[in-house]
Amino acid sequence: MAKCVFCGREQDDYKGTFLMKNDGTINYYCSNKCQKNHLKLKRDRRKIKWTEAFYKARDKRITKERERVEKVRAKKAERSKDSDTGQKSAKKF
Ligand SMILES: [Zn+2]
Repeated sequence: MAKCVFCGREQDDYKGTFLMKNDGTINYYCSNKCQKNHLKLKRDRRKIKWTEAFYKARDKRITKERERVEKVRAKKAERSKDSDTGQKSAKKF
């Protein structure tokens, strides 16, 4: 059971390559495609659509965006409440 460093896929059968670095870390690549993308082409796995890291980063981005939108909505609701009660807030245009 090894997890690919680049795409994040776990494989049971013996395929791919293990790369041992001088500092002791072991990188496992499930395929030559992953190895080339990481080492030769030096691509960022968060920007490649078929990797696990891409989906994680995308989910994070989406949740952040949702939180931001909700905050803006809450602020707008507060402002409309203030105007309903008759308290006029000084608006500068
Ligand atoms: Zn892989």
